Amino acid sequence: MSSAPQSATLRALADEALAHGTLPGLPARHFIDGQFCSSAQGGRMVVLDPGTGRDFAEVAAGDAEDVDRAVRSARAAVDARAGPWRRLLPAERGRVLQRAAERIRAGAERLAVVESLDSGKRLSEALGDVLGAARCFEYYAGTCDKLQGDTIPLGPDHLAYTVHEPAGVAAQIVPWNYPISTAARGLAPALAAGCAVVLKPAEQTPLSALMLAALLHEAGLPAGACNVITGTGAAAGAPLVAHAGVDHITFTGSVATGQAVMRAAATHVTRVVLELGGKSPVVVLPDADVDTAVDNVFGAIFENAGQICSAGSRLLVARSLHEALLTRLLDKIAALPLAHGLRDTGMGPLNSAVQLQRVGAFVQRARERGVAVRCGGRRAAGAGLDGGFFYEPTVLDRLASQDECVQEEIFGPVLAVQVFDTPQEAIALANGTRYALVAGVFTKDFSLAHRLAREIDAGQVYINEYFAGGIEVPFGGNRSSGFGREKGLAAVRSYCKLKSVAARV
Ligand code: NAD
Repeated sequence: MSSAPQSATLRALADEALAHGTLPGLPARHFIDGQFCSSAQGGRMVVLDPGTGRDFAEVAAGDAEDVDRAVRSARAAVDARAGPWRRLLPAERGRVLQRAAERIRAGAERLAVVESLDSGKRLSEALGDVLGAARCFEYYAGTCDKLQGDTIPLGPDHLAYTVHEPAGVAAQIVPWNYPISTAARGLAPALAAGCAVVLKPAEQTPLSALMLAALLHEAGLPAGACNVITGTGAAAGAPLVAHAGVDHITFTGSVATGQAVMRAAATHVTRVVLELGGKSPVVVLPDADVDTAVDNVFGAIFENAGQICSAGSRLLVARSLHEALLTRLLDKIAALPLAHGLRDTGMGPLNSAVQLQRVGAFVQRARERGVAVRCGGRRAAGAGLDGGFFYEPTVLDRLASQDECVQEEIFGPVLAVQVFDTPQEAIALANGTRYALVAGVFTKDFSLAHRLAREIDAGQVYINEYFAGGIEVPFGGNRSSGFGREKGLAAVRSYCKLKSVAARV
């Protein structure tokens, strides 16, 4: 599983947070128009530590009035005549984003501890996410002055060209599993394109987005270019995506909410990018290197306790390798401790009691259907886990294609295993759900790997390394996994409106 190098300062901060159950100076209000401010109605909500189940912070609970204030501020920042963000030279925009990257790196340790406390994820994973967020701003900083259009040859009597104009105000709706990563991968390309943003983090994990907004402001972002409204989906998310002043929506979350967002977007014909769920297959062909496959299958489902849209939650393994691979995988799982994310060992908790209940119910129903539970399958308890939302790493073996644990996203540390005899059968199984986000392929046969990459329907295919690539590689889904692409140059273009100009000269 991924991890970033750690310092004594990081450990000291994590120990302080463990000892006191919180950290001093956490942000507690919306960030609107360049400053922290309370909800118009004064609403508040608590934030829980998933590792203990206890609350450790309180933030503003926003509503339509707060959303409206933030959207107005964002509109002013990108006003075509006077908007301070819109009028900044592209190279200067790039410098602001570069400074933002430097500030995120400088504050990475505190951000990582807060992210771990808020989401439950292991500290080193949280630090990796924060450094990834800095890299994201660095990457898009370099795109600001390269959004060139084309000239189009129409002959001697015409001049035709295209211009990438900023879409305007972008709304970002972010889930709880990768709070700072998802916020950064939306904010950085939107700002690079010259848009202003109103971002609503998940109610479970609001803190890192507020901290990020303040850092961006310190880096020179003008007031209004980045606003963060905290609150529930119903009270703050719904009015944001239905707001007439929003020009573009990037939604990351569940299929059901994505459908609601798309319906709301239709009211004002607002453009939308949907990053939804997945049920991604990891295909292990008979000639695969078993050690590599085991390590990758393990990381693909147990990193962040399986709460990853692109988790490798289905293992499709060649019959000849099935028992050997599972034996090694089960040995590795047996050595995986569960611990509070800030202890930074093994696997952390699920993010909420709701998620714990949901994951447990899937496995309980599987048991009642007679599915072979090869390991795990229970809420984890014991020293250091009391009150936390811990679930054991679980492997369900030899599932039928129509089993709900093959078809539905569980979003927890539960691996569904299926066996195949031919590559054609593996492709059919891989394509056998409504999702099409990611697929992994493990084989030494390069042409077979690329044949599978072509025939499996997925937004991205990883060959011999699950989660390969970074911010440079476009990411997104097909079918019920959504549409539109984030990351890479595709993302910054998606925050632009393409204008064509054709003239008789
Ligand atoms: P969710 O859809 O319940 O919530 C996601 C966000 O939407 C939250 O901020 C929530 O407050 C907000 N929201 C809820 N109702 C809303 C409404 N009516 N209008 C506007 N916003 C609303 O999802 P979740 O349970 O928080 O997240 C888990 C899901 O997200 C999983 O299905 C997972 O696969 C998916 N996900 C996808 C990606 C991706 O990149 N494809 C990344 C992370 C998570």
